[in-house]
Amino acid sequence: MRKFKSLWVYHVDAGSCNGCDIEVLDVLTPYYDLERLGIKVVPNPRHADALLITGPLTRQTRMAIKKAYEAMPPKPRIVVAIGTCACSGGIFYNSYALYNTSPERGRDRLRSGGIEMVVPVDMYIPGCPPSPEEILYGLAQLLGIKEKRMKGEHWKALPPGEEGKAENEVEFTIPERGISLRLWLTLREELRRIVGYFDREAVLNEFIKLVEEAEKSENPKDKLHELVSEYVLREGDSRIRVAMMFLENEYWRLKDEYERRKVGLAKAKVL
Ligand code: SF4
Repeated sequence: MRKFKSLWVYHVDAGSCNGCDIEVLDVLTPYYDLERLGIKVVPNPRHADALLITGPLTRQTRMAIKKAYEAMPPKPRIVVAIGTCACSGGIFYNSYALYNTSPERGRDRLRSGGIEMVVPVDMYIPGCPPSPEEILYGLAQLLGIKEKRMKGEHWKALPPGEEGKAENEVEFTIPERGISLRLWLTLREELRRIVGYFDREAVLNEFIKLVEEAEKSENPKDKLHELVSEYVLREGDSRIRVAMMFLENEYWRLKDEYERRKVGLAKAKVL
């Protein structure tokens, strides 16, 4: 991304809980003193190089965000999404109050709520809310200050009670799963309706092991059904039996649904 000597920013609240707005205000206080970096908050998007957006994209504010973006000078027109809500909908994703173009409703609807649905985002600063330091860090990257004045530090998690020695450090790794993250998250959410919070991660992990085994065969659908049936016969807890059968049905239904949407999106892009 192009680096800037100074940056005039306009702040818009797309529907936040005000947590992020307070942090944005915080970076303007003399303590953090955003202006010393050459960043100035302006009261009009017509004078702004960048739009700082906080909060999820609600139906009420969608047009206001679009108009603010269009009112900015055509270049550089930077958009910074501040807070998890602006990045992805956060705790409000799939809420009825959010703007959504998808005709599906309820649990079939794709997770949504980020401001990228109406304006292209150049920088995401996640956090609920992000701390003033994180906001400053993000903006400093835009200005190129990060490279000039900051030194990167790599932190590793330590097991509880261990001293900070190099040999005690453990790398954080994102767990690998046999199915896509979107499917995993949706199934996990759905499972809550069946087993509540009763060890749903363990039930889902057991199910994923069966999926991985079934995917190795020539006919995964039949194989999965066979494996789930065997599992259900062995299992003594009726909640887990119901959950397994539910997961099998939901897995294929959601997988087909996502495939259908992917094809639809690819066709829309070609057209
Ligand atoms: S990210 Fe957290 S603090 Fe910011 S608007 Fe959303 S809920 Fe509020």
